[in-house]
Formats: sequence, C-alpha cells, structure tokens
Amino acid sequence: MVIARPVQGKNRNLKTRISLALFALYFALPFIKINGNQSLLLDITERRFYIFGMIIGPNEMYFLHLTLLFLGILLFFSTAVWGRIWCGWACPQTVFTEAYDFVGRLVAGKSFGKKSMTWFDWSKVYAAWIVISLVFNYIFISYFAGADYMWERLSTLNFSNDGDPSWPLGNWVMGTLAASAIAFGNMSYFRENMCRLVCPYGRFQTALLDKDSPIVTYDVKRGEPRRQKGQKEGEGDCTACNMCNAVCPTGIDIREGLQIGCLTCGLCVDACTIEMGKKGKEPLIAWKTVAQSTDPSAVRKIWRPRVVIYAILLAIIVGLFTYRVVTRIPIQAIPFAEPSTFKQYLPTVGIKTDYSITLSNFYPETHKIRIEVVSEDPNVKLMSDLVAGQKYFEAELASTKTLKPRLPVVYAAPTPQDIPADKEFVNFKFKIYAAEKPDKIKWADALIRLK
Ligand code: SF4
Ligand code: SF4
Repeated sequence: MVIARPVQGKNRNLKTRISLALFALYFALPFIKINGNQSLLLDITERRFYIFGMIIGPNEMYFLHLTLLFLGILLFFSTAVWGRIWCGWACPQTVFTEAYDFVGRLVAGKSFGKKSMTWFDWSKVYAAWIVISLVFNYIFISYFAGADYMWERLSTLNFSNDGDPSWPLGNWVMGTLAASAIAFGNMSYFRENMCRLVCPYGRFQTALLDKDSPIVTYDVKRGEPRRQKGQKEGEGDCTACNMCNAVCPTGIDIREGLQIGCLTCGLCVDACTIEMGKKGKEPLIAWKTVAQSTDPSAVRKIWRPRVVIYAILLAIIVGLFTYRVVTRIPIQAIPFAEPSTFKQYLPTVGIKTDYSITLSNFYPETHKIRIEVVSEDPNVKLMSDLVAGQKYFEAELASTKTLKPRLPVVYAAPTPQDIPADKEFVNFKFKIYAAEKPDKIKWADALIRLK
C-alpha cells in the first residue's frame, strides 16, 4: 500500500481547495432541500430520481442517458484540454485517499506511513479509518435511501427492516456497512492498485491524450545522469532525493517516463520545485504537452479538431437537455385497454372499451389531475360525458403518488346501424393535465375497436 508523503506547493494548495469544495458539496447535497425534496436522491427501489427540484420517473430515463453521455464526452473534452485532470484532482478515489491520509496523520503524527510506525499507531489509524468509512458511507447511502429517512432511523436507533423477517437490519444499514467495508478495504489495502490495475477510465483517458494534451513530465536532458550514491553532485541536475517518488499517490517514479499510473496530480512537480529551489534552479518535473516533452519549443494548440468536436457535442447535449427540461410535463400516464372489454356493444349507448391508466404525479406538489378524451371523430367520448355530461375524469394526486383509474370510453352508437361499417377502429388521444396548469398537456394515444 502506498502512503504518499505530504508536500507543500502550488499544486498541493489548489488540490486542497478543490478537495474541500468537493467534500463540502458531497456532505451538503443530501441535506439541501429543493421544492421540499432532497436536492439529489436516487430512489432506485421506487424508481424515482430527485434531481435539483425535478422528479424523474421511469418513463424519463432519457435524462439519465443524456447525463451519462454528457459526463462521458466531458471526460473526453477535459482530457484533451487539461490532461488527466479527473484522475488527479476530482476522482473520488483520489479525494478520499487524501482524506484518509489526513486522518492517518492526525492520529499517528509524523510517523504515519513510515517504517517506524508501531502496531499501536496502526491500530489507532485503522480504528479512525473505520469511523470515517462509516461516516462517509452513511452520507453516500443517503443519496439512495434518503437523508431524512436515515436520520429519523439513526436518531431513534431504529436499525430494523420494517418488520420484514427475511433480514434483521434495514437496507440502509446493510448498505452503509457494506459500502464502509469496501471503502475501508480499498483505503487500507488496495488503494493505488485501483488506479493502476482496475480503473478503466485511467486506461482510456491515457488513450485520449494527444500531442497537445498536458502531462507531467521529467526533463531527462537536464536531470540525467542523476547523482549516484557516494557522489556529492551528479552530472545532471537530479539530486536523486526521490521526493518525487515519495509524494506520488500511486508510488510511481515519473523519471521513468509517462505511465498509466500517473494521475497528473502535479505533486511531484511541487516536490521537485522544493528540491531544485534549494539550488536556485527550475524544477526538473513540470507540466508540459506531450509534444513539448520531446521538443520544448513546440507551441501548444488548444482548439484542435477533437476539442472543437467535443465542445460541439457537449453544446448539443446541453441544448437537448435544456429543451427537454423546459418542455417536460411531469405527469406519467400509461393507458392500457382491458382486452376483456374490447368491442362491447351497450344498447342505446354504443361500443365501449375500458381503459386502465397508470397515472403518476411527478410535480413536486399535489395536483388535481384531469383526463379528457380528444378525437377527430365526435362520437368518441368518455362514458361519463355521454351519460352525464362530465367531460373529464379528475383525481387529486399527491406528489410522486400513482393512481390507476378505470375509464370507460365509448363510440356513441345508439343502434348497431350507427356503427360505421368501413372502419375497424377509431383513434383518439387521452389529454392529461393538472387542473392548475391547463397549458401543460400530456398526450397518450389510444383507440377503440369497432369490429
Ligand atoms: S507521477 Fe507525479 S503527477 Fe503522476 S501521479 Fe505521481 S505525483 Fe502525481
Ligand atoms: S524530486 Fe527532482 S531532484 Fe528529486 S529525485 Fe525527483 S526529479 Fe530528482
């Protein structure tokens, strides 16, 4: 397991600020409310996602697809422009590793991670890591189980599974324990191997670099031949202090060239800046483009064809997403014609078909939801309209609740002769809307069989 040594410097300071901001966001989001709901809640069991005020149901998964597509292309874009910035600066593996090491240093002091660390120090560190694993993953699970629900349970020490005898503990407890165990194992054993061996992003991010992408690189010409054991000064500038290696979170030696394990975190740049600063020289390790690493005079081009294409794709996805958000009607309506009621002829009334409509309200508040029948053929009506002049069905539906009304729809034909002989069916639409928002209409296609 690699435990990187702490280092001071520009990259370190910026990384600390970014990590603190990401942590603040991570801890705050489950407790921020928008329209009375958790700002970000992925309720997988109920198949509902609460995303910054929007409630997204299972019929609106295109939002998820667009988001994933956006994030994927954003990764391509950021890698082309800033290199592996995701890996070294924002990836949870990186940010959490630093948090665990920070706590390790608080508990064990300067000996943290060194060979001189005693088993007693390690046991204190492991105990602290178990505690922070539980805290971090309690927050993580609250993005899925709901922060209010979990806090209500935790504050009353209710860890039960709501009386389900198949398992003694609630899902949120099991989720928190399982995620904590994985996080603890990852941080206390696996760590850098996640980046070096497992993470697919690391591999394809490296493949996404081109000659103008920034990387962290070692100046072989100036640095080598480095100082050898017993020498006071080497021929090259590298003093072989090995600090670049010691501060590296994945334990690689950047002097051996660009490697998959390099997260482009820039900490070795800080280490070498300190070491070379003692001699009044520029650091041997620096941010350069792939081209500049072999030809220092190479000029960096930011707007290359791939960057432009990624930017256009991102703009298209943002536009599409915005359009869908602005025009969305947060009602889900799925009509289903009951087969047993097809082509039923009711004397003096007409042909009737019963429709069951699965109706869900994804507005953040309660609404009176109305359903009307609209057709080019004036003979198609709701049964309630035909017999009592009631032109629509209406039901009050709380936010996220679902109702399944059964609505008889008729083709008015007082006698069998009134049924058109040349038509097999008549199309119509269900018009569904909240009474308080009559201009936001959801349409659902349906038909009534005549033969
Ligand atoms: S080699 Fe340098 S930039 Fe790359 S991961 Fe290690 S410390 Fe970070
Ligand atoms: S920090 Fe700089 S001087 Fe020290 S070993 Fe690394 S490259 Fe050489």
